[in-house]
Amino acid sequence: MLINGEWQEGREYFEVRNPYDGSLLRKVPLSSKLDVEDAVLSAKKAAAIMADLPAHKRSAILTNTSRLIENKKKEIAELITGESGKAIKYSTGEVERAIQTFQFAAEEAKQIHGETVPMDASPNSEKRFAFYQPFPIGIIGAITPFNFPLNLVAHKVAPALAAGNSVVLKPSSYTPLTSIRLAEIMMEAGLPKGALNIVFGGGSTVGEWIVENENLAMISFTGSPPVGKRIKERAGMKRVALELGSNSASVIEPDADIDRAIPRCIIGAFSNAGQSCISLQRIYIHEKIFDEFKGKFIGAVKKIKVGNPMETDTEYGPMIEEKEAVRAEEWIKEAVDRGAKVLWGGERKGGIIAPTVMTDVKRDMKVVCNEVFAPLVTLIQYREFEDALDMVNDSRYGLQAGIFTKDIHKALDSFKKLHVGGVIINDVPTFRVEHMPYGGVKESGTGREGVKFAIKEMMELKLIVFNL
Ligand code: NAP
Repeated sequence: MLINGEWQEGREYFEVRNPYDGSLLRKVPLSSKLDVEDAVLSAKKAAAIMADLPAHKRSAILTNTSRLIENKKKEIAELITGESGKAIKYSTGEVERAIQTFQFAAEEAKQIHGETVPMDASPNSEKRFAFYQPFPIGIIGAITPFNFPLNLVAHKVAPALAAGNSVVLKPSSYTPLTSIRLAEIMMEAGLPKGALNIVFGGGSTVGEWIVENENLAMISFTGSPPVGKRIKERAGMKRVALELGSNSASVIEPDADIDRAIPRCIIGAFSNAGQSCISLQRIYIHEKIFDEFKGKFIGAVKKIKVGNPMETDTEYGPMIEEKEAVRAEEWIKEAVDRGAKVLWGGERKGGIIAPTVMTDVKRDMKVVCNEVFAPLVTLIQYREFEDALDMVNDSRYGLQAGIFTKDIHKALDSFKKLHVGGVIINDVPTFRVEHMPYGGVKESGTGREGVKFAIKEMMELKLIVFNL
């Protein structure tokens, strides 16, 4: 555990294992309630230090972190693949994204400022002068999932520190090792003691102790919708940002460039074994091009290499745990029993599910209406563009959607009508870069990440009025 800038042992430990070969990677301390309280106390002391640290110093720490991660790109990518099972090419991509996340945060740290208020606009304040300024909110409790163990931690820690806050982090119990490495790097980068504290353990214990702690100002959570709901219920008066899941969709219009859409849909549906919050789960294809798209898509799926995530040409490896693969297999079976067709895949070997393409699905099948979080995609025909948009909206989630069309009117129509946080034209919903506002509506969450936007959520506006 990292408390007050010191690495601490625990009374009990839990094992972190490689999901591909089951090998033991490391034992990690299981934090007690007292450890969590110590971590919060340490963050409380550091919050005052961070709030006093000038912007250029906060920026320098974040720039140093970005550079140090860049120097250790290969080592960190291998660590991510080891503990999460993510294919190495995508782990390398995740490290590259985290380098940018820290760099954007370094730049944004220098841009935080307020504005004057035109007080003479009201007859009641003619002779007054006022301005407001954002101040750090205090201690941020960051709780993160397994699927991006570096960059999703970066999307909380980097903006929190850029804003002048301190952090208590609880990473996923599947993937705590990348957080340990990141903290070592941040200390080398010059982070003040206690500005980042890390505790380990299950969500229902350590996670909830963080959520309920009165000293915290905000909980920033990324994970599943049921846990997000529970956190919101238990967080009291704290600010809560929730980045949750989805059953994201794409629409393929007849004027779309199919050969450009297919490789993007393959990545969108299958990278990281479908274990991404914006994984492509539903593809709505216009009836005029359905057969052509289906044929070309299956042709591309057949070429996907699944297996050892350390091999550079592997697209994806195992799911995080075998029980998750078993769950996905059961959902496939449930759909087949109700008349769905498996066009390709459907089999499971241990924790690995073959790339699976289904059609003839119904809107209330689990593979359509729930977040499948597995390498599985459904192909659904439509006739009218309006109907396709309605089907995309027919979801309790709303994170991002991808629309493939050359028609600007249809693009703008989808922007207006889709109930999501982001509409991606001529790409899959799975597209994300670090400085864009990112987040969902409905059960996909509240609040926005993307460095500049997260900083805003992690600060409080304060006003000063001079009576002249
Ligand atoms: P999860 O089961 O919800 O866990 C996420 C984190 O919450 C873990 O650290 C977990 O701890 C902790 N947790 C569990 N129960 C908790 C509780 N009662 N109180 C406080 N913390 C608790 O999610 P996951 O399986 O790791 O990740 C997959 C989910 O994350 C998917 O739904 C995916 O869509 C979503 N996700 C969303 C985004 C986004 O940006 N919108 C990005 C990535 C993933 P332990 O696991 O250690 O017990």
